[in-house]
Amino acid sequence: MAESPEIVTRIAPSPTGIMHIGTARTALFNWLFARGRGGKFLLRIEDTDRARSTPEATEAILDGMRWLGLDWDGEVVSQFARLERHAEVAHRMLAEGTAYKCFSPQEEIEAFREAARAEGRSTLFLSPWRDVPEAEHPDAPFAIRLKAPRVGETVIEDAVQGTVTFRNDQLDDMVMLRSDGTPTYMLAVVVDDHDMGVTHAIRGDDHLNNAARQAQIYRAMGWAEPVWAHIPLIHGPDGKKLSKRHGATGVMEYARMGFPPAAMRNYLARLGWSHGDDELFDDAQAIAWFDLGGIGRAPARLDMKKLENVSGWHIARMADAELVSAIESFLAISERPPLSQAQKDRLAAAMYCLKDRAKTLPDLLEKAQFALAEGPIVPDEGAAAALDDVSRGILTELTAQLQNASWTRDTLEAVLTAAADSHGLKFGKLAAPLRAALAGRSVSPSVYDMMLVLGRETSLARLTDAASPRG
Ligand code: GLU
Repeated sequence: MAESPEIVTRIAPSPTGIMHIGTARTALFNWLFARGRGGKFLLRIEDTDRARSTPEATEAILDGMRWLGLDWDGEVVSQFARLERHAEVAHRMLAEGTAYKCFSPQEEIEAFREAARAEGRSTLFLSPWRDVPEAEHPDAPFAIRLKAPRVGETVIEDAVQGTVTFRNDQLDDMVMLRSDGTPTYMLAVVVDDHDMGVTHAIRGDDHLNNAARQAQIYRAMGWAEPVWAHIPLIHGPDGKKLSKRHGATGVMEYARMGFPPAAMRNYLARLGWSHGDDELFDDAQAIAWFDLGGIGRAPARLDMKKLENVSGWHIARMADAELVSAIESFLAISERPPLSQAQKDRLAAAMYCLKDRAKTLPDLLEKAQFALAEGPIVPDEGAAAALDDVSRGILTELTAQLQNASWTRDTLEAVLTAAADSHGLKFGKLAAPLRAALAGRSVSPSVYDMMLVLGRETSLARLTDAASPRG
């Protein structure tokens, strides 16, 4: 019995300087598809445009992949490094008669196109060299063109778009190898995908037209085509193609906004793919559920509110230690100072009362101020307003009462409630100066949680500090 072939997917970004959110989503789809099927997920950098393909631009893609947690199999493939192999295939096609030498100089082709445009005729260039026998060839530089079918249709069976038909009389004999010996993009992609054993080409639907051209090369070579799956591009909230004016387009901008990678994977998976009504899921579920049938044909719209909700859900369910390391990488990515070991310990201890309502990692950090602060607390403006003379007096009394109280939630509650009562205050009125004293913020975890996390010594030091008028 024939073994079923291993699934091989890939992401083949051109280095542009950033990893676009659309590229990240394409990478995720390919990764999910391969990981759910015991297959391989490969990474190829399409670095043939030498001007743009700087080491930094390539690194930007690798950084994006690593941040998103999308691991690839094997070495990163450089398309540029495979130039000779691309040329070899073009020459083989020449030898096999599925390609031909075209001696038409570039200027002649451009002049033809210009004239055609001016006269409103088709600009499709049909090379006069297609059927000229070798004996009549000049000794001059030539490009290698595909001898594409002139009649009939090229049909693509696309797992997302369905059957897509292209009329062959609308397609020219594409150049595969330029007269300077360099391969064109169209040839390079096919040769690389074939050599890498790619079984599924899952990519943006801006490549659908290319699929027709690429299929012609596969067919001319007698190579098995991959399963094509062209996914609709991501649109902005207004339904127009995503661009800078909609907000962040680079995946690392989302990293700097403080979305945890797990949340980003969940959100990006839902951007164009669905599994019933499931909105919130983890990697294991996404890997188990992902298939090409769940990819929609309508472009998905970026929705920051949804992303925040997904992010909040992930933060609330992440393990404390995992969140501490997510915070550490967030600080590094946003070029902020790292946490000391003591801060990490306090953050971990406080995590239980921080993670429930934070939507992003900076939200979490803001709420964690009370635990991270080193030295005396400097209240921000809102918090400082709660520290009037009356409140200071109460804080002084409380400091004395708490000196010997047992440091448990029940006792703390009893002491604070009694203090509020004795001054005829609602507890909320007492909470504001306590927050100012303990966190220096008017938004913080509950007063009890903060006191329990900080312990008696630090809590009382902060109350004492806040009780004494500042000079
Ligand atoms: N290099 C192409 C891009 O960055 C992708 C090519 C492909 O996936 O076939 O859009």
